[in-house]
Amino acid sequence: MTKPPNSTALADNTPSCGSDDPELARLQAGRGGPVDHPRIERAVREILLAVGEDPDREGLLQTPARVARMYAELFSGLHQDPRVHLQTAFTEKYDEVVLVRDIAFHSVCEHHLLPFIGKAHIGYIPDGRVLGLSKLGRIVEVVARRPQVQERLTETVADLLVEELGAKGVAVVVEAVHTCMTIRGIRKPGSECVTSAMKGLFRSNVSSRAEVLSLIYGRRSS
Ligand SMILES: [Zn+2]
Repeated sequence: MTKPPNSTALADNTPSCGSDDPELARLQAGRGGPVDHPRIERAVREILLAVGEDPDREGLLQTPARVARMYAELFSGLHQDPRVHLQTAFTEKYDEVVLVRDIAFHSVCEHHLLPFIGKAHIGYIPDGRVLGLSKLGRIVEVVARRPQVQERLTETVADLLVEELGAKGVAVVVEAVHTCMTIRGIRKPGSECVTSAMKGLFRSNVSSRAEVLSLIYGRRSS
C-alpha cells in the first residue's frame, strides 16, 4: 500500500531497539515524548530577544516553557499514525453514502506557524467495511496536529480512506479560516478557504458527487 504523503518515519512499525537511525532512536526514546522541549525553549528565548523583548522580565519568564508544551501538543500528530484508527473497521453490508459533517479541527499552517481552524466533512461509500463514526474525527485530529497546509490535510484524509478502508468512493471537504490571512498579510477577516478531495466513485460519477455535495451542503442551518 502506498504511504500517505504526510506520514512520518515513525508511522512505520520500526522497532526502536536495534535501529541504527540515531534520530529515530532519539525521537522514540523517553516518556517525555519525542519533542525536544529544551530546544524549543532556547529557540523561543532567541525569538523574544530578536524582536526586542526582555525574556527575563517577569511576564515572559515561563513563556519559553509554555510554548514548548504548546508545540508538543499542537504537533503531537507527527508522532502518531492515523492508520491505527482505521484498523477498527468492521464488516457491514451497507453500500450507500456514509457522511459525517462538521468535524471541528484546528491545525497549524506550516508557512507561518499560525493556526487555521475549521470543519471537515467526510463522506464515503463502503466496500464491505465500515468505520466507527468517531474514528473519522480521530483521523482528522491526528493529521491536523502537524505543521500543515489545508490542501494536504484534505488529500491525506481522503487517501487514507481509499487505501486503508478500501472505500469505493471518498469525498472530503474542508472549510477553514486561516489566521495567517485574517490577522496578518492581506488581513481579510471572515474569509474562508474551502478544499475538497474526491476519490473513486465520487470522482468518476457526476451524480454520486452531486449527491454527496448536497448531503454536505443541503440541510445546513447556517
Ligand atoms: Zn499561513
